[in-house]
Amino acid sequence: MIITAIRTRVVEFPLARSFQPAWARGRNQPSLVMVLIEMQSDTGLVGIGAAHAGLEAAISIERFVAPYYLGRDPAQVEQLASVMRDAEILGPPLYCMEIPLWDLLGKAAAMPVFRLWGACRDRVPVYCATAEVREPAVRADDVERLVAAGYRAVKLRFHADDPKDDVPVVEAVRARLGKVVDVIVDANQAGVEPGLDGHRVWGRRRAAEIGAELERMGVLWLEEPLPRHDHDGLRRLRESLDTLKIAGGEDNHGLHEFRLLVDRGCYDILQPDALLSEGVFQMRKVAAVAEAARVEIVPHTWGNGIGMLANLHLAAAVPNCPQIEFPHEPDSGFTAAARDQMLVRPLSIDADGCLPLPDLPGFGFELDEERIERYTTHTFETSLSSSDERLVSARHPVN
Ligand SMILES: [Mg+2]
Repeated sequence: MIITAIRTRVVEFPLARSFQPAWARGRNQPSLVMVLIEMQSDTGLVGIGAAHAGLEAAISIERFVAPYYLGRDPAQVEQLASVMRDAEILGPPLYCMEIPLWDLLGKAAAMPVFRLWGACRDRVPVYCATAEVREPAVRADDVERLVAAGYRAVKLRFHADDPKDDVPVVEAVRARLGKVVDVIVDANQAGVEPGLDGHRVWGRRRAAEIGAELERMGVLWLEEPLPRHDHDGLRRLRESLDTLKIAGGEDNHGLHEFRLLVDRGCYDILQPDALLSEGVFQMRKVAAVAEAARVEIVPHTWGNGIGMLANLHLAAAVPNCPQIEFPHEPDSGFTAAARDQMLVRPLSIDADGCLPLPDLPGFGFELDEERIERYTTHTFETSLSSSDERLVSARHPVN
């Protein structure tokens, strides 16, 4: 089998309601932007993937990846992984380009990818990752409904205007629901998205104070309490705590960086993402480094259902992954249904709060072609017969 063409489509799905993620203060996110990747082969099979990015990723794929993938055997994943790593020197991270390779290989083998990789389980517990800052009573209502819907764990954001207002949100959830739900807190301090309204930056002292408070309330983990390269600060914080775990890694890149995080004792839980941090199979190596150090891996995922499914296969195929992130902010523009609107049907949890793996070849992506076509803004295609990159079409977003 060889790769004969790569087509990328920039798709901008409008969000039906307001969505104000905590990590980009003061900004309403009006749409879900992704790049759909289709990798054609001489067998007729097509590998699917997606980037959690827009036009910049599509252009970079055409320039820095497609010329080196065309004509190659998609089974040579370890050779092609070096193309992705080199591409990051020149443009945005393109680790997502390993996903269509494995989708092709799974389809060729007529097996789901997680089974090719040694399936530890065929469903994975999720935690519901909320995204907005909400008043304590409102968030307690949200969590009560989420628990009724089957979620066993919920992640909250700490980004209130006054940091003193963050802790009462956890207190309100505990007061309403006791310990029936695991509570996770994300501080999003590892990397800062340029916001319109400034960022609430924590220092080591604040991270230690909040950590002690959360430990007292039995919170499961504190995510990204400090910048992603503050290895000493993270290690000291982790060592100062007893039951509260420290998690992070979604903004770190490359196997070598995750090894450093493990060696420096920064985290109890690593959170790489198959669209942002490393190739989806390379993340198995991250998981192995973590396993040897008795560190857990809980993949980060955000942005779109294709990424959710790719990370889910990784989660099901490694022994040290207790759960996976499931982005869903109730009563907002970014629900699970909005996240998965490029799929024929949104992913949903079972009665035990777990996400089942699809029993389909490859990653099991079933695309809503009509919807994707409607909201496509740009299409690029490179093929063996026309190896020059070319923009096939561009049009303004349809709202
Ligand atoms: Mg996070």
